[in-house]
Amino acid sequence: MVRFPEATARMFQSMFVCRRCKAKRRADMRKIMLKKISCRRCGAKAFRMIKSKR
Ligand SMILES: [Zn+2]
Repeated sequence: MVRFPEATARMFQSMFVCRRCKAKRRADMRKIMLKKISCRRCGAKAFRMIKSKR
């Protein structure tokens, strides 16, 4: 089995953290940008990427 670095990068990049309650959410980058994703726990639409802290 081969591990694709691109695939893992994509996986991590599609993980987002809620700014309010810090719940992790996997979603499409475009949907986050368009604010189509809301947090399951608190309903907030503000997310940040899981890696970047700012
Ligand atoms: Zn939340």
